[in-house]
Amino acid sequence: MDPLRIDRSAQRRDTIDPGACHAIVVRDGALLVRDGHLVEREPGDHPDAALTVYLGRDGERDLVALVPADASEANPAMSASREHADAIAPKPADASAAWVADGEAMVGLRDAIHLFAGAGEAGEREHELAATAVAITTWHANHPRCAKCGEPTRPTAGGWVRRCDNDERDHYPRTDAAVIVAITDAEDRLLMAHASYWSPGRFSHLAGYVEPGESFEQAVHREVFEEASLTVRDLVYVGSQPWPFPASIMVGFTARVDDPNFSLDEDEITEAHFVTRAQLAAHVADGSMIVAPQGSIARRMMDDWYGGPVS
Ligand SMILES: [Zn+2]
Repeated sequence: MDPLRIDRSAQRRDTIDPGACHAIVVRDGALLVRDGHLVEREPGDHPDAALTVYLGRDGERDLVALVPADASEANPAMSASREHADAIAPKPADASAAWVADGEAMVGLRDAIHLFAGAGEAGEREHELAATAVAITTWHANHPRCAKCGEPTRPTAGGWVRRCDNDERDHYPRTDAAVIVAITDAEDRLLMAHASYWSPGRFSHLAGYVEPGESFEQAVHREVFEEASLTVRDLVYVGSQPWPFPASIMVGFTARVDDPNFSLDEDEITEAHFVTRAQLAAHVADGSMIVAPQGSIARRMMDDWYGGPVS
């Protein structure tokens, strides 16, 4: 993977003037977009801010993520549990907000990632900015108080720390590791699974959170066995992707099984199939399988196996 496209300039976080930065507007996990690209409001053209977070330096420009002052910290989408956060719908354009100009709209991160996926290097830059802006502002919304003493905390260090003045404790944003694994059998068929909490027809790889005390690889073995009673071997690391729904990083692997006979934990996985390439193409074409959008590591692993874009 390439290095970061935006220089995070952590040494500037303590001294940066947010008002002198270009601002990416983010609210409730959605971003201000125009013509398929992030809107970057110039200095002097910012909405009133409830929160700014310094994102870093892009050439000669400094960038912040800006949460408008009319954003509600009590928005239910911001406090959803991680199991259900996946189902948060993208926010429609908020026509009542004075800071949304004609031609602009608030777009949920999932749709924004899909929009940026076709835009080459510029799209990768915007994907990085959008994922960072949503991840860090969602962390602020979900962590208003000190985890130790319960007193309110305040943002500091350019928005990368929350400080508890009561016990002089600093709290840092967290990222929850999750593994995702593309499993093939001896005939090179791919396992496609439907999770119980997904919308109908959606199929993807098995995935799950890494638990305290285990490695990524151990998490793969455990999750696959728990969800499907399959024993995998030959794990190969593919790559990782920030996945702030609300605070994950997806760590991708491929793995093989000798015995493709599975038994599902139906609380988690209600349906699964090992499919050939022709079967997957047919299922996608007739709509019986809805696969992950371009721009996600799930889709990348599927297309890698397929030998090109599935659709
Ligand atoms: Zn405290």
